[in-house]
Amino acid sequence: MDPLIQRTPGRGMEALARALPQGVHVEDVADKCRYGALAFLNGVTTAWGKAELAAWLSGPYRDVTRFAREALDLAAVRNESIRKKISAYAIERVMREAHEDVLVMLRTLTAPDGGVGFAFSALGGALVSRCRDDFGESGWIPVSPMRMRLADRVLSLVAVDYLARPEDYESDLAICATCKVVAFDRTARSRGLCRVHSGSGIRFNSRPSIAIEDEALPSTQRRA
Ligand SMILES: [Zn+2]
Repeated sequence: MDPLIQRTPGRGMEALARALPQGVHVEDVADKCRYGALAFLNGVTTAWGKAELAAWLSGPYRDVTRFAREALDLAAVRNESIRKKISAYAIERVMREAHEDVLVMLRTLTAPDGGVGFAFSALGGALVSRCRDDFGESGWIPVSPMRMRLADRVLSLVAVDYLARPEDYESDLAICATCKVVAFDRTARSRGLCRVHSGSGIRFNSRPSIAIEDEALPSTQRRA
């Protein structure tokens, strides 16, 4: 058995917690995870292709998974992709399926206590591992092994954010019934529609950690 699994919770688990770089708070990691997950989900709705996915993997995704032990070796992934000659069509299908899988989980997380099962499986080590910052706070970082489904990569970001503040998911998380845009926006939540489709004309609210910002998207995807 993996020696990590044999450790008992408590002090043993604290010993396993990865120390974040100096000055990085556990909340910063959760913010980056939320940003990265929304960048993917709302990006895919704008017809992302292979280039946009690569930009996400080497941008917002790597920005937060660099804290984990098993940093994703992007060069190796690229080489493997080339070797297998994965078609643009296959990649787009994987992205669409990952998007659907994550939306299904997000809908579950909006229900009271809906995330209990998700939290247990995430804490079991499939999606997150422990971290601590030098301010004495404990939190979670996403895991990013070489081989991992794209949906699970996105879900690992969701898991870190959810474990840090499940109440945001239960009360604020909105998925637009028309365009599937995801936002943490209580007004949109109550209407079941983003602000564009509910007629208010503002697509996202202004909290920087939860809005998808145009500069995070490749230039071809920037909205006018
Ligand atoms: Zn909408």
